[in-house]
Amino acid sequence: MRAEIIAVGSELTSGSKLNSNAQWLSQELAEVGITTVAHVTIADELQPMEEAFRRSANSADVVIITGGLGPTLDDLTRDALSKVLCAPLELHPPSLEHVKAMFAKRNRPMPERNVQQAMFPVGSVPLPNPRGTAPGIWADYRDPTTGHICRIAALPGVPSEMKLMYRQQVVPRLDAGDRVIRRARINCFGVGESQAEEILGDLTARGRDPDVGITAHEATITLRITAIGSRVDECREKIDKTREAIINRLGTYVFGEEDQELEDAVVRLLRLRRASLSSAESGTGGLLAHRLTGVTGYEVCYMGGVVVPTSAGKRDVLGVDQQLILRHGPISAEVARAMAEGCRQRMGTDFAVAVTEWPEFDPENPLAPAPSSFVALAGPGVSKVEEVQHVGDPAIIKSRTAKVAMNLLRLHLIMG
Ligand code: ATP
Repeated sequence: MRAEIIAVGSELTSGSKLNSNAQWLSQELAEVGITTVAHVTIADELQPMEEAFRRSANSADVVIITGGLGPTLDDLTRDALSKVLCAPLELHPPSLEHVKAMFAKRNRPMPERNVQQAMFPVGSVPLPNPRGTAPGIWADYRDPTTGHICRIAALPGVPSEMKLMYRQQVVPRLDAGDRVIRRARINCFGVGESQAEEILGDLTARGRDPDVGITAHEATITLRITAIGSRVDECREKIDKTREAIINRLGTYVFGEEDQELEDAVVRLLRLRRASLSSAESGTGGLLAHRLTGVTGYEVCYMGGVVVPTSAGKRDVLGVDQQLILRHGPISAEVARAMAEGCRQRMGTDFAVAVTEWPEFDPENPLAPAPSSFVALAGPGVSKVEEVQHVGDPAIIKSRTAKVAMNLLRLHLIMG
């Protein structure tokens, strides 16, 4: 199958915003065996949009449109689509209820203009948007002269809304005739891409069914399983077997599935144990606290954190011995350990994690390898330190250090 992706928005054609949706969608479509043959970016103008939609629909099997579904006058995707499909717009009452409910949730009256977000070309299928007001549209297009059929999905431009809707509602609809595609993701930490490939051996072989691909993002390794079959239960069965084999081979490197991050795993384990956590950070600017507080329900187990970039802060806020700092330096195993222990004691939590990271690179020597940083864990009967050696992309150093700290705690919670 061949796909074309159309990104709508004058902010994209003017260059003030990067069309990242096209890149993301191409990668996702490739994973379900669909090749993207064109990216089109078009300004918010009705006639050029209509022409672009028609051109793509006449040549591709799938067209994914993003953007232009909002309530303002320059949001013209549904009007252009209605013309291309030769289907007038009609009101879809459940979608109007959803838009109204989103406004009620924000305690704001719904402007009349937003009614148009509940208008859909006759014969199309509304795609609910769980994160925003703009529902998407799913429609079948038929070229009146050649009879060529193309499936069209119009999704909101906001990347977080678009991604969720693509995965939940577009992928299951991309099954072609007797072909069904299902996917699963398994997330790991503490193992490199090539090491994971070596451990998995035949599971990642080319041409294997189901296919297993490996991607890395800020030191998190994701295994993507794609099964293609004639029935959903057949795909599920194939995925379940492969998932089990992967988990058996990678063991404790695996921390979660689908969208789960390390912080989700840590909060889940702390809640299970009814244990509390605090954190102390030097050099990561609160990144650890930021990640932990992004997890739903974190407040039950995460009691808070301190950011102590200076030696005075480490001494006054956490009670780290000044002599220790002078003897070993502020970024050292000894100071990381003392920070975790001081934090645990002063915050009165079961566990504390600490990071000591270099605040920035040497700008005079940007290619020099980054020096190691240290993370520490303190808890009942445990006081551990881990050195973090930085290799690879310097842009992800802070994120990686924060993840190593969370992983240290995660491993202790599952082993201890
Ligand atoms: P909403 O009504 O929820 O805003 P929409 O479908 O009208 O959705 P747009 O108004 O076109 O979406 O875009 C909303 C925002 O999403 C833009 O301001 C932009 O920041 C982002 N966005 C839109 N298209 C893209 C794209 N192709 N790549 C990355 N970001 C995008």
